[in-house]
Amino acid sequence: MMAFIFFILFSSLAFAGPCGPHEIYVREQWIKAYPKSDGTKVSAHTRDAHCREIEGSNYFQDSTNQKFTNIKPKIKKWNATDKNIVQETLALLPPWLSKYYLAEILRGDIGGHPLNPAASYSTTRTLLIFDKFFKEKDKRSIVIHEMSHIAFPSIDPIHKLEFIHASGWTTDSDFKPVAPHKLLMPDSKDSIDEDFANYLETFYKDEARLMTFNPLAFLIIKKIIDSKENDK
Ligand SMILES: [Zn+2]
Repeated sequence: MMAFIFFILFSSLAFAGPCGPHEIYVREQWIKAYPKSDGTKVSAHTRDAHCREIEGSNYFQDSTNQKFTNIKPKIKKWNATDKNIVQETLALLPPWLSKYYLAEILRGDIGGHPLNPAASYSTTRTLLIFDKFFKEKDKRSIVIHEMSHIAFPSIDPIHKLEFIHASGWTTDSDFKPVAPHKLLMPDSKDSIDEDFANYLETFYKDEARLMTFNPLAFLIIKKIIDSKENDK
């Protein structure tokens, strides 16, 4: 029964990837009929979901074509000082997290909430840095947290399931995820993805605290990191 519940809980996540650190996940698309330049017609078809290689990495952009859903940041131009601070912070990432390419690094004013220092979108490999980031002492933890969101779709499905179980996620009668009673951070209740990013952030900030908080989940996080560090 447990396995079944976790299959349901997990199935919505499984389709989010897994792509490698240098790839973006492109969801299934309906392509309308169109004429090619030589005049031949291409009929309407679906293009399967696939992983697309990101050619370059860590581009600081002054603007974007992306439309953000939950947040409405005003995108600003980067200045040299802010860019340096972000570059120096990214250089402090654990090696496996630094392998994840970012297609766009954007500078926003506030992320919908003035206390929000940063945000990320794993589907477009975007990192957003807000004003608040530059006032934070522990910038490394913020970047580790956001890169954990970026890495989440590429975590081995079995490891993901083990984490979900160990952290204490269950499902209600409609098979919707129900957050653990004991939360690592208050916003861990928002989603499994958020909970996972909080675990990784805490692992690197205060390993001992995580070990005490949830020894089983700690071991699984450690196993995930070890397996990722051994990936090419
Ligand atoms: Zn988060």
